Amino acid sequence: MEVGLIRKKVIIANWKMNKILAEAEEFLQEFLPLIQDVDQVEMAICPPFTCLDRMQQKLVDTKVFLGGQNLFYEKGGAFTGEIAADMLKDTGCKYVLIGHSERRHILAEDDDVIKRKLQVAIEAGLIPILCVGETLAERESKQAIPIVKAQLASLQGIKPPIIIAYEPVWAIGTGINASADDAQEMCAIIRQELKAIYDESTAQATIILYGGSVKEENLAGFLNMPDLDGALVGGASLNPLSLANLVRIGENIG
Ligand code: PEP
Repeated sequence: MEVGLIRKKVIIANWKMNKILAEAEEFLQEFLPLIQDVDQVEMAICPPFTCLDRMQQKLVDTKVFLGGQNLFYEKGGAFTGEIAADMLKDTGCKYVLIGHSERRHILAEDDDVIKRKLQVAIEAGLIPILCVGETLAERESKQAIPIVKAQLASLQGIKPPIIIAYEPVWAIGTGINASADDAQEMCAIIRQELKAIYDESTAQATIILYGGSVKEENLAGFLNMPDLDGALVGGASLNPLSLANLVRIGENIG
């Protein structure tokens, strides 16, 4: 099956609901010179919608891509406050986050909604980054694997390319990261599940990220694992030097 992506190191920044335009511009002014010579790592920033257009202009002729943090599952019409996949594409996005735990848990998005979002993203030519992960209670009750497998079922009938981000909910924004071994164990299971949903070559070619309190001290441990291709980074991506250092760690590992 054609997956349309080359498996390489990937660092995606999720700025969440942070930064006004001036702050985003200031960030890029500092960040871009620091990563100018990077060529082994795919880099993308998912800023708030309000920053996309201006950032697109600043990122022309750079190696940094843009992603949306969310989209709506309809293509257009009377959906006040929502953003369509085509609008993200039009404003320069390559990627879109779908099913982030904050949307699953704070905004009650379920797997059906997530599946519809995956579908419109693919139709618009965006690469969805499907976020999956268990809560602490689910991990403690030994439900982590079935929960993640159930979340991956949203991929049935969705044509690759897709990226998967394994983000244990208890690790997001808490400063408590999963161990590299635990992340590897789950990412190997995710790859097995991709094989069941698609086929062996798609499973092997799919980029799988870890997310959850990634920082300079722990990133290399994740990137050295066989089934982890990169990271989805929240808090540590808000500072240009910190994000550049994470990218450099990826570059050194290659
Ligand atoms: C995230 O927002 O996807 C995330 C992983 O956040 P943090 O790095 O802050 O844990």
